[in-house]
Amino acid sequence: MADDLALGEPHTVVVIGGGQAAGWIVKTLRKEGFTGRLVMIADEIHLPYERPPLSKAVLSGDADINSVRLVSSDDFAALNVETWQPDCAMSIDREQRVVRTSQGREVRYDRLVIATGGAARRLPESLVKTSHIKYLRTLDDAVSLGARLRKSERVLVIGGGWIGLEVAATARKLGVQAVVIEGASRLCGRSLPNSVSDFLLALHRSNGVDVRLDASLVALDDHEQGIRATFADGSTLDADFAVAGIGLTPHTALAQEAGLVVDDGIKVDEFGASSDPFIFACGDVSNHPNAWLKRRVRLESWANAQNQAIATARALMGKREPYAEIPWFWSDQYDVNLQILGDIPAGIEPVIRGDLNARRASLFFLEAGVIRGVISINMPRDLKLARKWMSQGRAIDVATLADTAKALA
Ligand code: NAP
Repeated sequence: MADDLALGEPHTVVVIGGGQAAGWIVKTLRKEGFTGRLVMIADEIHLPYERPPLSKAVLSGDADINSVRLVSSDDFAALNVETWQPDCAMSIDREQRVVRTSQGREVRYDRLVIATGGAARRLPESLVKTSHIKYLRTLDDAVSLGARLRKSERVLVIGGGWIGLEVAATARKLGVQAVVIEGASRLCGRSLPNSVSDFLLALHRSNGVDVRLDASLVALDDHEQGIRATFADGSTLDADFAVAGIGLTPHTALAQEAGLVVDDGIKVDEFGASSDPFIFACGDVSNHPNAWLKRRVRLESWANAQNQAIATARALMGKREPYAEIPWFWSDQYDVNLQILGDIPAGIEPVIRGDLNARRASLFFLEAGVIRGVISINMPRDLKLARKWMSQGRAIDVATLADTAKALA
């Protein structure tokens, strides 16, 4: 990336996107003393909000926009951001450094930050022949899904990933029957080892969820007042409606059309700069070299949206520190708080501390005597300690890790 000074001090920063990453960009820029013009272009009407409650408290009706905001309305007003909402950036003219929007507006930038996140992946249209299907990505999606859930008796959840499992847990909490169908042979197969997938399967089944693995959905049709799902083996299943959580598609089209380098997300350096030194990207849509992981990665997580945005905003202000956060993720389902920290290398047997069946355990994944990753189930303190040791690269005594009679600290 070209030296910041050579690019000149920014007077106008334009942010495309209005989610967690965009919110942290504008918040951090002002905190770091940026006094110039700040424009945020976002297609949702809401100011930046947090997504973790969407599949839980918002669905159950216990939270609304006011409880999930990233910054209160008054505090946001004090940031002095020109919000172009709802509007949609349609093109980036890199030569003129101009963004044009669907509402016919245009703005010239000194620096542009793309924090467009992604969209819920859709089931193929050829498969879906009903309107009784919902997706969950935005606050409005969650409010609409929650209203539907609360007046239903039975929901079909398509996808046994994080959205699917959190929605199923909330449905059970609301007394709604839930059937989860997962195409693969285990739950959250892309992020968890077999033992934790099995743990989640047992957890959901013990809470009354009908979980079906290796389920190959071939059709979703209207049936009476609801839907009928048909599977490859000819079996069928009826429900009031379906919700699909089958992954996320990053919003990279705008960047791609502008000629930026895109490869599983917008490619950025350790300071958030894309292949164009005037354009940055962060959050779910970016693919960054993570100094802790020692490889490139595109992370879809709350923590990354926040921390990468902070690092990027600081870099925009000349405070360049390579982004090196240890990836961290959590999920709450029933009485279980599950957290994942670091890398979970495939093929490594974890050292287990505690008892998975008792829903209190930590799994430590070690390489050459140091912890590379941890999965904690209702043991947040273990994870906190592990984070410290992982940051230090400290060698760990395996016997102590596994022995619950010995305090970890
Ligand atoms: P996800 O975690 O990638 O899970 C999607 C699951 O659906 C995968 O297991 C996938 O299997 C399966 N699947 C795909 N197509 C299917 C089909 N046609 N029939 C049945 N199963 C199918 O994605 P997600 O749950 O949709 O979540 C979207 C994003 O939101 C992710 O980035 C997630 O991390 C994030 N999120 C985070 C939290 C949290 O932080 N606690 C909570 C909710 C969501 P394959 O892997 O085999 O394709």
